[in-house]
Amino acid sequence: MSTTVETFEFQAEARQLLDLMVHSIYSNKDIFLRELISNSSDALDRRRFQSLTESHLMAEGTDLHIFIESDPAARTLTVRDTGIGMTRQEVIVLIGTIAKSGTREFMNAVRQAKESHSPELIGQFGVGFYSSFMVADKVTLVTRHAGETAGTRWESAGEGTYTLEEVDVPEVGTSVTLHLKPVDSEDGLHDYTQEWQIRQIVKKYSDFVAYPIKMQVSRTRVPRDADGKPIEGAKEETVIEVETLNSMKAIWLRDKDEVSEDEYHEFYKHVSHDWTAPLEMIRAKIEGTLEYQMLLFIPARAPFDLYMREGRRGIQLYVKRVFIMDDCKELLPEYLRFVKGVVDSEDLSLNISREILQQNRQIQRIRKGVVSKILDTLKKLRETDKEKYLKFWAEFGPVLKEGLYQDHDNQEALMDLVMFQSTNDPTALTSLREYVDRMKEDQDSIYYMSGESRQAVENSPHLEAFKDKGYEVLILTDGVDEIWTQSVHEFGGKHFQSAGKGTVDLGSEEERKKAEEERKSKQEAHKSLLECLKQHLDEYVKEVRLSSRLTSSAACLVGDQFDLSPQLEQLMRAANQDMPRSKRILELNPNHPILEKLDSLYAADSGDPKLKDYAQLLYGQAALAEGTPPPNPGQFAKLVADLMVHAG
Ligand code: ADP
Repeated sequence: MSTTVETFEFQAEARQLLDLMVHSIYSNKDIFLRELISNSSDALDRRRFQSLTESHLMAEGTDLHIFIESDPAARTLTVRDTGIGMTRQEVIVLIGTIAKSGTREFMNAVRQAKESHSPELIGQFGVGFYSSFMVADKVTLVTRHAGETAGTRWESAGEGTYTLEEVDVPEVGTSVTLHLKPVDSEDGLHDYTQEWQIRQIVKKYSDFVAYPIKMQVSRTRVPRDADGKPIEGAKEETVIEVETLNSMKAIWLRDKDEVSEDEYHEFYKHVSHDWTAPLEMIRAKIEGTLEYQMLLFIPARAPFDLYMREGRRGIQLYVKRVFIMDDCKELLPEYLRFVKGVVDSEDLSLNISREILQQNRQIQRIRKGVVSKILDTLKKLRETDKEKYLKFWAEFGPVLKEGLYQDHDNQEALMDLVMFQSTNDPTALTSLREYVDRMKEDQDSIYYMSGESRQAVENSPHLEAFKDKGYEVLILTDGVDEIWTQSVHEFGGKHFQSAGKGTVDLGSEEERKKAEEERKSKQEAHKSLLECLKQHLDEYVKEVRLSSRLTSSAACLVGDQFDLSPQLEQLMRAANQDMPRSKRILELNPNHPILEKLDSLYAADSGDPKLKDYAQLLYGQAALAEGTPPPNPGQFAKLVADLMVHAG
């Protein structure tokens, strides 16, 4: 076997993260042990699960466990597991780099936080294995992957480099040895070689881990005779024995009242790898023809990878207390992907595979139950603790809205949960129910307007008539709004209507009829002028017509009822879909003096070149009003300047 020791450099982000650990940004240093045990527990889960289909990964009788060993003289602490282990390449990728984009984002956040001196932010993120460097000045990891014969030894002092060496490892699994820094109680560095210290940390953070966490402990005891009676006068003796430190009791099997909030939080951290306490917990036991339990958590903040496909952990599936798999997608729809936790089924078979899961009817029924429990919890939260619900909404609102078009069975429940900004209040969000309750007597639709930002929507000319009438308009600024509004058409018997699409006549039936007739007759009177303007703007618009939505602005751009909104077109283009730019409709304010001006120009000379310039100007300002540049900004600027000269 080769004994070459190769030196590697940490990837830049990994180096930064290590640097933070070495300089101990966390005040609670004890949690390094929880992180190492958690990694070991995951590795044991993986070995057990993979060996169901690849039996060579685990010989019969393999003892799946975690062993903690300390050496006070050498000041080392070792955490060893008989889990899946890592190949040499995995060690390089998993330990030497920060592959997860979430953690990369975290590094950026930390850098910014450092500048603004806000260490609280830093305390929110989990950094796993690297937390060892808070308490150790050198870490040695020795590992052998199941199914491989050679092992790998990794070592680093947490600075710029690490070494790798091929070594003999008798057993599959991983051991991490920490060469501990000197004890410094002021800095929170306890003596992690002491049995009681280790015992206390394990009990506090890792009691529920499903594998035995063993340790050699020394006991003094009085020798006893064959009947178990103490032998009188005999000297106390010291015996060394192996003890399991954790109860291994699944937390969801314990009595509800017996589990403290702290214990739930530690469990949440274990399943989610998120160090912030969860916002809400859902614990339920379902009995009947199908029996299962769930212990779920709604995180307090969105992970950075919420909109990415990697790095999700979601729900862990257990069958009769035995871990089956991480991230069980079949149990949760996409739009609830932020929920973390455990489902433990009594009825599924222990060797259920991912493939079988997809068609399994029991899983489908459990999923239904899980979804309805989550939605019920959110509903209750909204009713009983609005402030907390709004916190939830700020983090996960846009994701929950995905459910509006993904989950037809629960559409109604979701409609009751969604919140919107609205013209009714500059800051408070509204629910659809509240909106409908506030609707004017003669109002028959729920109006919304989408745009880049609240400000852009509020200032858009499209809302003028609504403001005039005192009609409330929902302000939609999330990308996902463009999608659900395509497929959700009504709430509580009221239609959704975009303020930027189609014709909108407001008011009572009578008023609307009247307005429509008036507009039609004006439209007829200006027919050839409007046609002439359309000719000049043929490239961009499909129609030029008189508007019912403008009261003060001269012009705005709208779409037909079933046209894609410009925001949606933009989204689709961003997603690399080949989208031809669709032509919009230019609407002119029938009561604006510009119309008269254009009329007289046209009457005097229908070929007047000014008509073309004015058409461009009108189109340009309508585009600007909704936050998009005119098609030819340079020419637009020149036209405005010319106009100013002539006006002077
Ligand atoms: P996290 O556990 O949050 O993914 P870590 O930095 O703690 O991040 O670990 C990175 C990866 O290294 C883990 O996801 C796992 O794949 C691997 N790893 C860490 N510890 C072990 C271990 N004891 N056995 C096997 N793999 C491990």
